Amino acid sequence: MENSAASASAPLDTYGRSPLAAVDSRVHEVLLKQVRQERTTLKLIASENFASSAVLEATGSIFTNKYAEGYPGARYYTGNEIVDELENLAIERLKALFGCEHANVQPYSGSPANQAIYRALLSPGDKVMGLPLPEGGHLTHGWSVNFSGSDYQRVPYGLHENTQQIDYDRLRDTANRERPKLIWVGATAYPRVFDYAAMAEIALEVNSYLAADIAHISGLIVAGGHPNPVGHCDVVGSTSHKSIRGPRGGFILSRNEDRHQALHHPKNQHNLAKRIDRAVFPLLQGGPHINIIAGLAVALEEASHPALRVYGQQIVKNAKALAQALLERGYELVTGGTDNHMLILDLRDRPLSGKAYAERLAKAGIITNFNMVPGDPRDPAVTSGIRLGTPAVTSKGMRQGEMVQIAAFIDLICREPADPDVHASVRKDVADFCAAFDVPGITDR
Ligand SMILES: *Cc1c(COP(=O)(O)O)cnc(C)c1O
Repeated sequence: MENSAASASAPLDTYGRSPLAAVDSRVHEVLLKQVRQERTTLKLIASENFASSAVLEATGSIFTNKYAEGYPGARYYTGNEIVDELENLAIERLKALFGCEHANVQPYSGSPANQAIYRALLSPGDKVMGLPLPEGGHLTHGWSVNFSGSDYQRVPYGLHENTQQIDYDRLRDTANRERPKLIWVGATAYPRVFDYAAMAEIALEVNSYLAADIAHISGLIVAGGHPNPVGHCDVVGSTSHKSIRGPRGGFILSRNEDRHQALHHPKNQHNLAKRIDRAVFPLLQGGPHINIIAGLAVALEEASHPALRVYGQQIVKNAKALAQALLERGYELVTGGTDNHMLILDLRDRPLSGKAYAERLAKAGIITNFNMVPGDPRDPAVTSGIRLGTPAVTSKGMRQGEMVQIAAFIDLICREPADPDVHASVRKDVADFCAAFDVPGITDR
């Protein structure tokens, strides 16, 4: 029933209304509109996914009400023994899944997690190397309009002109010349795996910290569909709501001890885990969102099941199938393909901008985002690319055969971007196509 969708198991009133429907018909109506949209469209945004009903139930639970500043066993409020049990459960599950020594589950999201990593490792003005935003890096890896670009000296490293992949040789040269204190490895729009061992070697050579940002790929890593950076990196930051299918939040994994203790932290604190914890609270945040930690714990339980391995591998198979089908239809892809969950359509040789194509695809029920491609001649506000990701459609149960059909839908729109009749007819076909699939969190009960 759509009426009960997304309102985790709440009792209905005598008119059959959920508490939300009874209290606030306006918000309930927009929620139902969103539910309808999710059921009838193809969510190909690489950073989005569907959390399960179990995750949504925990996230929408009474843990919303609890204040628990501090950490398990050391809170500033009483009555937190149960919350301690919950947070420890999430921490232990993360440590087991990723094989790390320390985990912090309190960051409000991926950007705050990264901010805490900066504050734990560096002083303002220190040098940081990262992949620039136009080449696939995240805002927080040293982009000008972000704190990471204004408070730290940023030294970008780039992609190889021919392969469009990270140029590790050039990166090594730049690192040796610039001697950064932190190097980021991770991206928001990069369709290939990262060579964490090569990055670790470079970081060691120049005595720099190495931080991985696995916001997009944490679910793939747990599934064995992407190498695990833990062991190669000092610190790993992540969101919890992308491929790993948790609630909207973040986490940080780290070593206990700082391998660079002689390096440069002003307080000369050798315990890296403690520095991370103190950077999250009390330096940057107040009370943790306990309901989110509850949802994360549930997502991590789900992630420990063999089904998650199958799911994670299917995401990659689907991305490869979608890439193959688009290549066969004559599309250019950044790096020529994918090894992970995403692909980036390079539309530089097409008449319209990435934004224009993304808007037309959305009219047909194909939800994507426009994205810069390497060497993009267009403005970031319009771009020449479209980023496509398979985590959400894989959560709906789609497989390689469906990817071939999705490529055909995309092609129809991109070939006839000016024809509203084509948009309308594809919109209807997309809705019919989607009707055969459950949507986790909506129709999986
Ligand atoms: C999504 C993302 C983030 C930030 O996540 P928010 O939750 O939006 O703050 C950080 N790093 C990378 C690489 C991302 O893709």
